[in-house]
Amino acid sequence: MMNAAFRTLGLDWRYLKLPVPPERFEETVHALPGSGYLGANVTVPHKLAALRLADEATEAAAAIGAVNTLSFSDGAIAAENTDAGGLLDALGSSPQGLRTLVLGAGGAGRAAAWALREAGAAEVCVWNRTPERALELARDLGVRAVSAAAPADLLVNATTVGLDPALHRDAALAQLGLDRIDPPATVVDLVYGGHVTPIAAWAAGAGARVVEGIEVLVHQGARSLKSWTGRAAPLEAMRAAARGDGRERPPAEHL
Ligand code: NAP
Repeated sequence: MMNAAFRTLGLDWRYLKLPVPPERFEETVHALPGSGYLGANVTVPHKLAALRLADEATEAAAAIGAVNTLSFSDGAIAAENTDAGGLLDALGSSPQGLRTLVLGAGGAGRAAAWALREAGAAEVCVWNRTPERALELARDLGVRAVSAAAPADLLVNATTVGLDPALHRDAALAQLGLDRIDPPATVVDLVYGGHVTPIAAWAAGAGARVVEGIEVLVHQGARSLKSWTGRAAPLEAMRAAARGDGRERPPAEHL
């Protein structure tokens, strides 16, 4: 997706996957600027460590407590969280005044809850399989932890449920307590893969508007790209690449 964007923008840049063990994360990131890197996306399990080592962080990254984008310039490491803004961009309409329900209290759940609260949702409820994590998130971000999925206007699945294409739809719904409610008018499933996810199928089957995880991926990536290049992201090229139309695989580079 990023390499397609660089090509479309005429930039001779490359986006590489760098598998890094947690104990080498900090030294690796500090070595990147000197090796010609201008920035990085960071994923599980490094999102907290990235916040700790950054010289500066956006308000969103600090509040969410997780970072997915680093930018290197003038010897400083700047951190941001584009998952939050990417979700709102992918939604395409304001959640202001809506009753919202976030499933999951990991990094993606925290970003979603913060984004919805900041964007003026009337209510942000969070459910998590491990209730203590939902309570902690609710305390940190000033939202409400709930013990079961309840009716809402907008639902965000920020769990990993549905990632496994072999998981039966009914089993997925039961794991999240969604077998007991009707789909809200709008459902965002952050999970993405090459398959129709069980949550997306459940929502579409009831006529709900579905925002797929791949669309959120494209928009969070677009925000990262803008931070690194200062230019608007070529969304169509990124979308096509993310959906696999270009059949491109990024090269893996081991340190
Ligand atoms: P994470 O920090 O590992 O959190 C995983 C979450 O899933 C936790 O809330 C966990 O609950 C829950 N979970 C796992 N298995 C479960 C089950 N069987 N039943 C109910 N809940 C379960 O991961 P993350 O970074 O937040 O990412 C979550 C998902 O969002 C992933 O699929 C990721 O790919 C996706 N994501 C997508 C985008 C995008 O742009 N589309 C961006 C970020 C993340 P416990 O606390 O109980 O373990």
